[in-house]
Amino acid sequence: MTEQDKTSKEFWKEKRLSQMSHDEWESLCDGCGRCCLHKLEDEDDGQIYYTRAACTLLDVSSCRCKDYGNRETLMPDCIQLSVDHAEYFDWLPETCAYRLLAEGEPLPEWHPLITGDPTSVIKAGISVRDFAKPLSEVENLSDEVISLLEAGIASQDDA
Ligand code: SF4
Ligand code: SF4
Repeated sequence: MTEQDKTSKEFWKEKRLSQMSHDEWESLCDGCGRCCLHKLEDEDDGQIYYTRAACTLLDVSSCRCKDYGNRETLMPDCIQLSVDHAEYFDWLPETCAYRLLAEGEPLPEWHPLITGDPTSVIKAGISVRDFAKPLSEVENLSDEVISLLEAGIASQDDA
């Protein structure tokens, strides 16, 4: 690979989010599934708390949406990410490529676009695969609050 080829493939360094093609935009998603966890918002200060409880449409083992094409209809609460709705980026985990790039930060070294390995997000402990629970197994959302960290999670007790 020449340096020019390499550079042209690193589109996330050269383009703003608004300049990316559909495929480039979609490839930024590392498949962590973190945005598909139920969240609680503190009514007093607006702080967002993540929980282990996964959206009903999330396949926890693969961290993929079971019906991505129809999610808007099936799950009206699902946030549709786009550059036109940057206000939602604050709800995204700090490890999410969309939020990082919107804030002028680089992609993390474990990101699949950098490693070339789609499983690197799992190896880095970023995927929710090992701790997310189907909503049907959760009795009380507030008992399932967690802190999402760069290297995994801390439970409510550890946080
Ligand atoms: S948090 Fe970001 S990178 Fe992870 S699944 Fe959601 S959109 Fe994709
Ligand atoms: S509908 Fe799909 S993409 Fe949206 S939160 Fe649920 S699992 Fe995630």
